Amino acid sequence: MAGKKYVYSFGGGASEGNGSMKELLGGKGANLAEMASLGLPVPPGFTITTECCVDYFKNGSRLPDGVEKQMLAALAKVEKTMGMKFDDAKNPLLVSCRSGARSSMPGMMETVLNVGLSSKTIPGLIAKTGNERFVYDAYRRLIMMYSDVVMEKAEGIEPAEGQAIRKQLDNILDELKEKKGYASDTDLTVEDLKKLCETFKKQIKKTLKREFPDDAMAQLRGGIGAVLKSWNGKKAVSYRRIEGIPDDWGTAVNVQSMVFGNMGDTSATGVAFTRDPATGDNKFYGEWLINAQGEDVVAGTRTPNPLNNDTRNEQNKHLESMEDLYPELYKQLFDIRNKLEAHYHDMLDIEFTIQEGKLFMLQCRVGKRTGTAALNMAMDMLSEKMIDEKTAVLRVSPAQLDELLHPILDPAAEKKAEVIAKGLPAGPGGAVGRIVFNSVDAVKAAAKGEAVIMAREETNPEDVEGMRAAAGILTARGGMTSHAALVCRGWGKCCIVGAGAIHINESAGTMKIGSKVFRAGDTISINGTRGYVYAGAIAMVDSSENPRFQHFMKLVDKFRKLGVRANADTPADAEVARNFGAEGIGLFRTEHMFYGKNSEKPLFFLRKMILSNTTEERTAALKELYPYVKKDVKNTLTAMKNLPVTFRLLDPPLHEFVPNEKAKRQELADALGIKLSDVAKRAEALHETNPMMGHRGVRLGITFPEVSRMQMKAILEAAAELERDGIACKPEIMIPVTCDANEIKFQKRLLAEVAAEVAKKFKVAKIDYLVGTMIEIPRACLMADEMAKEADFFSFGTNDLTQMTFGFSRDDIGGFLNDYLDEKILSADPFQTIDQSGVGKLIDYAVKAGRSVKPKLKVGICGEQGGEARSVAFCHKVGLNYVSCSPFRVPIARLAAAQAALTEK
Ligand code: PEP
Ligand code: MG
Repeated sequence: MAGKKYVYSFGGGASEGNGSMKELLGGKGANLAEMASLGLPVPPGFTITTECCVDYFKNGSRLPDGVEKQMLAALAKVEKTMGMKFDDAKNPLLVSCRSGARSSMPGMMETVLNVGLSSKTIPGLIAKTGNERFVYDAYRRLIMMYSDVVMEKAEGIEPAEGQAIRKQLDNILDELKEKKGYASDTDLTVEDLKKLCETFKKQIKKTLKREFPDDAMAQLRGGIGAVLKSWNGKKAVSYRRIEGIPDDWGTAVNVQSMVFGNMGDTSATGVAFTRDPATGDNKFYGEWLINAQGEDVVAGTRTPNPLNNDTRNEQNKHLESMEDLYPELYKQLFDIRNKLEAHYHDMLDIEFTIQEGKLFMLQCRVGKRTGTAALNMAMDMLSEKMIDEKTAVLRVSPAQLDELLHPILDPAAEKKAEVIAKGLPAGPGGAVGRIVFNSVDAVKAAAKGEAVIMAREETNPEDVEGMRAAAGILTARGGMTSHAALVCRGWGKCCIVGAGAIHINESAGTMKIGSKVFRAGDTISINGTRGYVYAGAIAMVDSSENPRFQHFMKLVDKFRKLGVRANADTPADAEVARNFGAEGIGLFRTEHMFYGKNSEKPLFFLRKMILSNTTEERTAALKELYPYVKKDVKNTLTAMKNLPVTFRLLDPPLHEFVPNEKAKRQELADALGIKLSDVAKRAEALHETNPMMGHRGVRLGITFPEVSRMQMKAILEAAAELERDGIACKPEIMIPVTCDANEIKFQKRLLAEVAAEVAKKFKVAKIDYLVGTMIEIPRACLMADEMAKEADFFSFGTNDLTQMTFGFSRDDIGGFLNDYLDEKILSADPFQTIDQSGVGKLIDYAVKAGRSVKPKLKVGICGEQGGEARSVAFCHKVGLNYVSCSPFRVPIARLAAAQAALTEK
């Protein structure tokens, strides 16, 4: 560790670091260095590197060798630039210690201001400023922050509720103000402040059993140590978990000379965005406070003034703007805004302070923004020629694009609300509604125009009508690829599954979360993008169609190499998919025609087929089912016009379709001419211990070739009819759940026979189609070279492939996934994002093995991960031809694919 450069100076028109050194200097440190080099008025200081933080923890929470020496040298430079001295009795310099990680973690780590005030330096500062009130105000702030951050939090002290030192000192301050009848902190007199400082110090001694340090150097060391330790503070650790920031990045510490916004009425402090972060409008947007320090603006204790007339709103319209009050300073700030945007080519979030009429820049960083703002700014900056097309495409994250496509809970309102339960984020966007506990009530309420959230222990195919009708779905069980999740994502509907903390008692009509009991009719709000549940109604924000969306997506398509298809099973979904830019259907799940609207009749014939005992009975039932399958296939092919459509043969285990209700069973018994008890017997015979590894997928078509034949005929005849009518179509037949090339051979034999019959019937030489297989069993990956000899294409079914590679049930993982994430056994849900190190290896191997025998083998993915940005980037990397995902995720996949191509090394 010795010999490393741990400290980088900035200020006085020069810097040792620069804006590209975020990893080492943190975002704040890198940008301070950059601004100082640009000649902007940055108070001088130095940055202690993130590497120092990492070494500090390795070193048993002690500064590594060499830091102290480098720090003192850097401090001497600052003193020289400022013409002041730290810990000097006559001309004392004060500094701030602030955190600053690689990526911004707003409010999650600590800051100490006014470091260096002591009985030695206070008189000198009073003499110099002639402002005793200011000095004691700065001192009481130092005491409050320091005792909280350095003496309590950094020491790992966890006080009882309401007993934190900061709270105790706040109470003392409030009591004094009340006793004196003061409305604001600015009413406190010098005498008040002096007494307050003494009382504070006594209280600190009493509570923390240590003296507040009356030594500038001790304060500085304490401040630096506390900022370093705050990297491992509770808030910071949880924030990193949510944002996926690695624990070993560390934070930098920025020590910077203090400038004061609280030196009277010609001093001020403010925060601004170079453009509106909510809408993206090209308007300078900000807030400022006269006679205040930075924390006052963010703390929300005073309503800040608008920076300019563009920033006026209901709360601040009566307050004076900087534009009106100090036009010259405003102009200087406005020029800096333009200079920074021109330099960084992006929207920035800046902090500034005015000390007695002089402007200083304290921070700048790329500003956080909403999805709408991200899109608008990218397109504006492109037309302003500030950025090029590639940069514009990289400016909008897939998550921001997702936000644009769904109504969401108002982020500001959501921040204030308490999360009462968490589950898996299965379907995006937000929903607010009254609770219903079953599908029938959901449909009834929706018919009356009421928004409802359907809360279920878990969903099954019979709930599908209710799911369609509800504004949102919440289930206690299930994983990301469970039925509810899959269907909701397909519809772009808000959905949370596997919220283990909720307990539903449908017959009692209650949902319990901890000690809270909700009844049918109570209102809740859910955020399906994050998996959060809230009591009561939270405002929604409409993400209405953005006119620039289409233009942006055209740009995106210029750069992407990966094809994007959709998983769609109805003509209506196919239409949505096309409108979102899908280049075909990568997965048409035949079985979905047996759920939901208009499914009564085909479902009845399917059930008849399932309960048939003989081939004759089965063939008769299949004949009745045939026209429904053909109609669905034909309508979908028509909706996709000449784009390819991959029809997958029937996949689920048949018992899933057997009815449980007596009336439905009786109807079937009558149709089959058997007794009700026989229906029960036949249903029982279908029972399997492990249905997901049982009689499903291609195995059904091996046992019952007539089932495959019926579907093949429906697909090929639908295509032949369309071709005859002049509509080009490209059917692709896909065989699910295969593990051996012989299974494909078997099905291909049937297909060749059916194709010959259809060609004969339509009097054509041959019917065009492709036949391929899903790769969703580890053995299929390992046998990919053999499989490729028989297949025109592969499509990775990563839902099942993940299930079978991990041995995790895709329907039950919600019950224990959080434990795996909490314990950091897994870093992410593998059903949401491809497990690149395990499942990904199998995929990579299978692609290579398949193409070793068929170099042009077309390979795609149709598991749910196909619409998730990181997985899309992985698919690009391993050379897939396309991803297929739910229609609403098509734009996200297009963007992720373009960004993967653009950032490829
Ligand atoms: C898969 O397993 O990834 C897949 C797409 O098929 P299904 O989800 O229908 O099993
Ligand atoms: Mg599957």
